Amino acid sequence: MNNLSIKNILTRAVHAGERKKNGEFIPVSTPIWPTVGYLYDNMDDMDAVLGNEKEGFVYPRYASPTVSALEEAIASLEEAEGVQVYATGMAAIHSALLAAGAKTGSIVFASQDIYGATYSLLKGLFSTLGVKYFFLDTTDLDYVDKKMKEQKPTVLIVESISNPLLKIADISGLGEISKKHGVNLIVDNTFATPYLLNPLRLGADYVVHSATKYMAGHGDAMAGVIGSSLENKKKLFDLNKMIGSNLGPFEAWLVLRGLKTLPLRMKQHCQNALIVADMLQNHKQISKVNFPGFTSHPQYDLAVRQFDGKGFGGMLSFEITGADKKKVFKFMESLELCLPATTLGDVYSLVLHPATASHRSLSPQERADIGIQDNLVRLSVGIEDASDILYDLNQALSKI
Ligand SMILES: *Cc1c(COP(=O)(O)O)cnc(C)c1O
Repeated sequence: MNNLSIKNILTRAVHAGERKKNGEFIPVSTPIWPTVGYLYDNMDDMDAVLGNEKEGFVYPRYASPTVSALEEAIASLEEAEGVQVYATGMAAIHSALLAAGAKTGSIVFASQDIYGATYSLLKGLFSTLGVKYFFLDTTDLDYVDKKMKEQKPTVLIVESISNPLLKIADISGLGEISKKHGVNLIVDNTFATPYLLNPLRLGADYVVHSATKYMAGHGDAMAGVIGSSLENKKKLFDLNKMIGSNLGPFEAWLVLRGLKTLPLRMKQHCQNALIVADMLQNHKQISKVNFPGFTSHPQYDLAVRQFDGKGFGGMLSFEITGADKKKVFKFMESLELCLPATTLGDVYSLVLHPATASHRSLSPQERADIGIQDNLVRLSVGIEDASDILYDLNQALSKI
């Protein structure tokens, strides 16, 4: 089945990557293949596989069947020529930066409120290897254009929906500017997922995901993804043969299972987030709600256009009026349904305090500069009944 020939993402999510013939039969759903070694009828066959003249498996650090099935499924959803999956989202971001050209003497541009660990990766690791980095407001295209001309970076990394302030990256616009300056564009599409957006179609060179989040979706597996052209996939494959940030077959199977309901879950996440954002916006204890689905959001029109009117994602963040850290913690402890766990994109609703969790590694000044206050709470709206989420938020707010 040529998965890409099927237009609807609901159908592709269910079938892509499956039904690989194995000997005498074709499994309806891909099994977990935990083997490290592979036998061939004769050494000539093994030789041909090793020489890339014949498809097959030789060692799981190169490729393995359950993992390859997942890569094929994600390639279909992300409309990518090639996909390489990783043990975690950070392993994927690390490899994407390397493949995109981050090396001694090069400059990496990143959006200001990029994921905390990506910020730390650039600041704490790549900088020690002689990579310079520069954080900038990537919602201002003219400014990005000007800075690229000035500083000649090699890579630009942005998030399609940023964390935790929910800014929207104009992927077409950034893709065009990046192309003009010969810059490789990496888009972290974790929050939007392929249900809302396919960054490669809009000019990104690499799309990355923490598949730990929406793709797996059930809070039980860690994984990372890079989608790219076939040429870049080959680069990533060769790189990973050396680095070995591979995903195991069990985790690959969990993510593959999760993908089947990704579009369904995203529909419900998006629908619930709209309802929850609206309630919070009108709540007297809430001073600010960051959500791209509000007409007052500075990039509302871009969000509608770029996400094809399918929704605005399941993430939002809000500020509790006048609350200090202690009060925010009391609110989080008072929740009975929403879970205060440091992850997102699960079927469950999850809350997080960015100042002490995702953005803990930033100094208070750095957090203040990008607009992350101590009273900010991030909410990953789950797929429960929206009225139960509303009830829980209201009862917890009434306790502080
Ligand atoms: C979680 C996350 C990551 C890191 O992924 P891990 O799977 O935790 O390594 C990167 N980017 C974004 C936007 C994330 O939410």
